[in-house]
Amino acid sequence: MAWRVLARSLNGSASAKGVAEKVSPMVVDLSPPPLRAAAAAQEEGPRSWVFMGPPGVGKGTYATRVAEALGWAHISTGDILRTRAESGDPVGRELAGIQASGKLVPDEMVLELVDGKLRSLRSDAGYILDGFPRTEVQANGLMALSRPPEAVLVMRMQEDKLKEKLAGRRVCRQCHKSHNVADITMGEVHMPPMLPAKGTCCAQPGSLYTRRDDTPRCVEQRLQTYKDEEDALLRSNMMRMVRSYRFHVWGGVRECLPGLLHLCDPATGTMDADHAGIPGLSGGV
Ligand code: AMP
Repeated sequence: MAWRVLARSLNGSASAKGVAEKVSPMVVDLSPPPLRAAAAAQEEGPRSWVFMGPPGVGKGTYATRVAEALGWAHISTGDILRTRAESGDPVGRELAGIQASGKLVPDEMVLELVDGKLRSLRSDAGYILDGFPRTEVQANGLMALSRPPEAVLVMRMQEDKLKEKLAGRRVCRQCHKSHNVADITMGEVHMPPMLPAKGTCCAQPGSLYTRRDDTPRCVEQRLQTYKDEEDALLRSNMMRMVRSYRFHVWGGVRECLPGLLHLCDPATGTMDADHAGIPGLSGGV
């Protein structure tokens, strides 16, 4: 964008006349290709998001579905770290221990991991970061990486419902997809269990398990860890540099997904959230 503004101001000056004549009458876009792609994408609506919120709020559930619908990458640091932990080598064992305690993996390690993932994406590929950043250091570090995000969605849900959801979560050993056996009612809204479809690997007997960090004690620790970091995260430089939205998860996937898809789709998501009429959504955090 800055390149476009510069080009506009140059258009009026004598020294820029030659350049302007070649490319005018429209605005001259002097951006190098990656910046131009980013600017074009920005006019359309953000293509790089952070989904943030407490454990159990549905970051993974919504990030998976939105990324799939838009053909974007879904980068879940929790999933990547769990896979690394399964290796059983000394680093893996250390990671498994940290995850099972509900505490956070060191910032430098997670930043390096995310840096590698972002570098591996095509420059115009959309992405959703799920569960990262989780600390102020991570948030500020993220903005210095190769492809910082353009927007943040801060998700919220009543704490007792978060606990019910985490107690009901079941993960497939084979494809790592999450399901939920909890049957939750929130006011007028009913969130029925999200069970595996027949014929899928998740529906095989014995394929579903409860994550080690979904035990009540560990859930308390994870919620506390989130609360300890949230204020600093919301005051981080990242929040000053990107568009931000707050989303109160008021129902199940069937009710909430259409609004989030509308918000994240670059073709429709540029509108002011306050006027978009998406239930549960407000602009700015
Ligand atoms: P999640 O699957 O997002 O609930 O993450 C599970 C666990 O992985 C967390 O409780 C942390 O131990 C670890 N973890 C995931 N993401 C991060 C992160 N951004 N920073 C530090 N630790 C993380």
